[in-house]
Amino acid sequence: MARFAGVDYLHIDSQFTEQELMVRQTARQFVEDRVIPLVRDSFRDGRFPKELIPELGRLGFLGANLEGYGCAGMSNVEYGLLAQELERADSGMRSFISVQGALVMYPILTYGSEEQKERWLSKMQSGEALGCFGLTEPGFGSNPAGMLTKARQDGGHWILDGEKTWITNGSIADVALVWARTPEGIRGFLVEKGTPGFSASELHGKMSMRMSVTSSLSMSDCRVPSSCMLPCAKGLKAPLSCLSQARYGIGWGVIGILHHAQAVRQQTDRVAPARAGKAGMDDHRDYEGAAPGAAGRAFKGSREGGAGAHIDVEAQQRRDGAGMRAPEPRPAGRERNYGRVPYHAAHVQPGDGEDVRGHGPHSCTSDRGAGHGDCGVQVG
Ligand SMILES: Cc1cc2nc3c(=O)[nH]c(=O)nc-3n(C[C@H](O)[C@H](O)[C@H](O)COP(=O)(O)OP(=O)(O)OC[C@H]3O[C@@H](n4cnc5c(N)ncnc54)[C@H](O)[C@@H]3O)c2cc1C
Repeated sequence: MARFAGVDYLHIDSQFTEQELMVRQTARQFVEDRVIPLVRDSFRDGRFPKELIPELGRLGFLGANLEGYGCAGMSNVEYGLLAQELERADSGMRSFISVQGALVMYPILTYGSEEQKERWLSKMQSGEALGCFGLTEPGFGSNPAGMLTKARQDGGHWILDGEKTWITNGSIADVALVWARTPEGIRGFLVEKGTPGFSASELHGKMSMRMSVTSSLSMSDCRVPSSCMLPCAKGLKAPLSCLSQARYGIGWGVIGILHHAQAVRQQTDRVAPARAGKAGMDDHRDYEGAAPGAAGRAFKGSREGGAGAHIDVEAQQRRDGAGMRAPEPRPAGRERNYGRVPYHAAHVQPGDGEDVRGHGPHSCTSDRGAGHGDCGVQVG
């Protein structure tokens, strides 16, 4: 199978640092070697490939842009490139790391007590513990302010009652961050798997996001110690801030889907003329360059590894005209040691920058299910 070599019509790669490109290459390698071979069957079987979770942890992909507790402390751009590559394999894979990192680890780090951070963050970073984020309810999705799930205090405990649905990783999670209405506003509670009165059940038969586990949660007289409430999350702005974190990764993921679509298209462009004969293929032939229009030039330029110099000039003009600038050098304090990420050491050597920016012809199989899908609405 030909490997994915990248798509970069606007020469955006030239604005990434070596470090950012290394992170992308690490993620790309993982996706090609470990994820894509599993995607088709996982999609068909409607299962998340849990066997990859320890590896996601070892590579620093869980809570990747968070600091401390063993997290990789990636910059937001590095984290975005990671999300882009994972989503290129399947939206469910990106969704998995978004929920774990942005929707559970981030709120524990931002709003949790020291005890909660110590209990969960290192384990979640390594993939030893999984989390889910319970905000959506059967009657309240876009408008979480209407939530019906309630929590009432009883001595040193809180008692939760309510239902959550469409919860990514719900039935495989060790801890659910459940948002509930209390007399003092909406608060977040860390509910551990196995807590009496708490249950999670998987939703089956999705037409999209099939590789992602999606579940319903039920709380019925579910009693948790007061120490399970996130002390600093008060009001709806706390869960909404988590959604902002997740949406950042989702945005990058969309580009990953486009990269995959383009790789498939390039393969189709090459195969279709041979299959279909000459008639009706003029548009495709345009891309090959006989009398290319603007789009054709762009496709051709990207295929020829930048050999189309006009593409360079146009891209540069666009960058200059739009006031975009090269990234400033990172302050020394922001340099991080990625020695702990084995793929970096194993697959990318200093000076490999050219390889990771390659634009050469490539193809990508399109038979791995329709795993790219409706990332438009879901939280994770
Ligand atoms: C695969 C998947 C994973 C998910 N994972 C999670 C998770 O981990 N945790 C979690 O809490 N939730 C999760 N969700 C739920 C997700 O956040 C909700 O689906 C989303 O908030 C939309 O809510 P809804 O499905 O109830 O749609 P609705 O709110 O019923 O909306 C239906 C349609 O109406 C439109 N609409 C709604 N209100 C308005 C309005 N006022 N004006 C104009 N248009 C409007 C919406 O844009 C949408 O197109 C997940 C969903 C999916 C599909």
